[in-house]
Amino acid sequence: MKLVLATSNKGKVREIKELCPEYEVIPYSELIEEFEIIEDADTFKENALIKARAVYAALDDAELIVVADDSGISVDVLGGAPGIYSARYGGENATDKENLQTLMTNIKKAGVKSSPAFYTAAIAIVTKDIERTVHGWMYGTALTEAQGDGGFGYDPMFIPLGYDKTLGELDNEIKRKLSHRSKALSLMKKVLKTL
Ligand code: IMP
Repeated sequence: MKLVLATSNKGKVREIKELCPEYEVIPYSELIEEFEIIEDADTFKENALIKARAVYAALDDAELIVVADDSGISVDVLGGAPGIYSARYGGENATDKENLQTLMTNIKKAGVKSSPAFYTAAIAIVTKDIERTVHGWMYGTALTEAQGDGGFGYDPMFIPLGYDKTLGELDNEIKRKLSHRSKALSLMKKVLKTL
């Protein structure tokens, strides 16, 4: 089965390909020119649906299955920020590094060295017959210093519950077992089996 991903985020594409070896996973930018999608909803779920619907409509092939991932990190000491704004926390066109730096700085400004935090992933599945969403979460601790350079995005500042190293330091295999994305994708697979 072919799954078209409504993202060109390299970290997400790599992880989704690794977590879905039984599917042919293709970023939509390999099929059509990339275009801007305005994610202006106020939940991960609705933003994932916006992306999946936009790419499904643009592909113009009713038989395709489109999958979108909308995800981010929420930090307790910052009242849940950056949440759905994780991709642009350091400014409109901020890089992953700038977002990471901004988040560590803001936690420091809150007067702590670390804070409970969690990642959310919402996955939307759009086909000619259905629209569905599933979620996954990963809990842990957000730090004010980056450690390691594995993973992507905020991973070097996030220690998953039960570990003492960040996702930047831990083996990829551990993130594959624990992550918000892997939990959401295993639910997605259950939905795909019903098609
Ligand atoms: P989106 O593309 O709008 O869903 O933005 C997701 C944002 O959250 C990006 O800044 C990502 O780097 C970050 N993010 C999402 N999932 C992860 C993850 O598994 N690890 C690290 N950062 C993540």
